[in-house]
Amino acid sequence: MHNFKSVERCVYGRGAFNDLEGILQKRRVQPDDFIVFFLDDCHKGKPLESRVPVKPGDLVLVENVDVEPKTEQIDAYVARIKAHTGKLPVAVVGIGGGSIMDIAKATSLMLTNPGKSEQYQGLDLIKIPGVYHVGVPTISGTGAEVSRTAVLTGPVKKLGLKCDYTYFDQIVLDPELVVGVPRNQWFYTGMDCYIHCVESLQGTHFNTFSEAYGSKALELCRDVYLDDTLSQEERDDKLMVASYMGGLSLTYSEVGVCHGLSYGLSYVFGTRHGIANCIVFNQLEEYYPAGVREFWQMVEKHGIHIPAHLSRDWTEEQIAQMADVAIRLEHFWVHHFGPQWRQVWDVEKIKDLYRRM
Ligand code: NAD
Ligand code: ZN
Repeated sequence: MHNFKSVERCVYGRGAFNDLEGILQKRRVQPDDFIVFFLDDCHKGKPLESRVPVKPGDLVLVENVDVEPKTEQIDAYVARIKAHTGKLPVAVVGIGGGSIMDIAKATSLMLTNPGKSEQYQGLDLIKIPGVYHVGVPTISGTGAEVSRTAVLTGPVKKLGLKCDYTYFDQIVLDPELVVGVPRNQWFYTGMDCYIHCVESLQGTHFNTFSEAYGSKALELCRDVYLDDTLSQEERDDKLMVASYMGGLSLTYSEVGVCHGLSYGLSYVFGTRHGIANCIVFNQLEEYYPAGVREFWQMVEKHGIHIPAHLSRDWTEEQIAQMADVAIRLEHFWVHHFGPQWRQVWDVEKIKDLYRRM
């Protein structure tokens, strides 16, 4: 049995961001205490930037996330932060999407653990608790705010730093912050949540605990993407809670076929997580018939473009490389197909699916 930890504290609601200053003030004890803020550069020059509760001596890193977080990038942040005053910060805060939140989590852990972050890609490899860290999502869907992992791409794999110390100590869920998310990205990242739930609810790790979160999150996603009567504010409120609950559903279960193939795609071509999931899920009717048909309904309703026929430009070598990354994700296959997964699932089947994309 897993004995799960979870996020220590959560404040939710419109305007919750205003509470961040008071929350952080409690960490500022000594005069030379400082805080590191990672801010997604999409907020640069926007009202949110001026609302970040920065005090003299703090370090604000405004970062671009066009490329998903890499291990070497985290190592560089750690070196830079350690050189800031010679002391460790009293808090690390990530304000942005899944990428910035994972950067904040991983940096917090690597500030206290020796060596390079690529050494810790895997399960329970981190031995020392990180610096107190806070997550503030400004786009909803990944569940990174509530998950046990900080996903990083390293020299040999895309895999998270997964351990109990990864969880945020505090999260601030303020649906007002998602204003301005481009429509396609809103859809792709929201579908990450939808797909988390579809996958966690179908497989050998299925259990009532996970289902309680997953089925509620699915219901919220249906409201967001299929109910015409809702205002955008209502959609934003619901999707932020769906993301949280989808993340919890996963914690008590596992993802499946879509995420397995999506990781291969992101690893080889750098395709971002949300859109990569959509490209893969589009081809998985055989594995998730009801989920995929409902996904098509949502795609059509919002007029979203899901890239297809990509494999025309892929070499057999690239397809083999993606399949090689995917097949190693054994825990996903055990969840979807059961402990005897090798009898029904192999590299050739994975390649065949990639060729349809
Ligand atoms: P993201 O963080 O990469 O951001 C997507 C885009 O949205 C970026 O261009 C960003 O600048 C923009 N954006 C964010 N907030 C905005 C706002 N309020 N207004 C305008 N633009 C905004 O996307 P994501 O889908 O949230 O996260 C994907 C990342 O999360 C991947 O790196 C993936 O590996 C990781 N992930 C982590 C977990 C986990 O449990 N840790 C789970 C799923 C995905
Ligand atoms: Zn995901």
